[in-house]
Amino acid sequence: MKIFLATGNRHKIDEIKAIFSEISKEKNIEILSIKDGIEIPDVVEDGKTFEENSQKKATEIAKFLNMIAIADDSGLCVDILNGEPGVYSARYSGEGTDEANNRKLIKNLQGKANRKARFVSVISIAKPDGKVFSFRGEVEGEIVDEKRGDTGFGYDPHFYIEEYKKTLAEMPEIKNKISHRAKALEKLKENLEYILF
Ligand code: IMP
Repeated sequence: MKIFLATGNRHKIDEIKAIFSEISKEKNIEILSIKDGIEIPDVVEDGKTFEENSQKKATEIAKFLNMIAIADDSGLCVDILNGEPGVYSARYSGEGTDEANNRKLIKNLQGKANRKARFVSVISIAKPDGKVFSFRGEVEGEIVDEKRGDTGFGYDPHFYIEEYKKTLAEMPEIKNKISHRAKALEKLKENLEYILF
């Protein structure tokens, strides 16, 4: 069986493949992505929730490729910023680079003591016939002004987890076990057999 990872974000492809490596071997599932030379159209992310965007990406690509597709919509939600940047995480600064997004985040948090934040991921799996299932994962942390670590992507260098005394960018292996995406994928894995067979 073939499943397509419907994302243009190469970091997400690597993370999802790493988290799925065992079960894909066990169940004989081939995980494909744009890294295998398969082209996919851009899906406009105009939903107001992670669920809407994630389901839209998965269903449109599943129909387009006539293949089961998995999509992730994720982002950073900061308590004191009323959940911002949320579904706009990728284009928070308008410019769309991680660096500019992080600069805007730290600027908006200047002078604010409450740094509580969470990463949210909603993973959807869609079949070409339009059936779709979604799973949500979250990880809590706090935003630190100084960048720390050089792995991962996006807001990772500013997302600090007290339990590990590290940012997500300083602990890639642990990230793949505890992240929002890992938790959502864990729930998908638990239900995969029911969904696929
Ligand atoms: P999406 O590709 O539309 O789901 O946008 C996700 C955006 O949220 C990314 O571009 C990052 O800015 C942010 N984001 C999501 N997951 C992570 C993560 O694991 N680490 C850091 N930033 C993330």
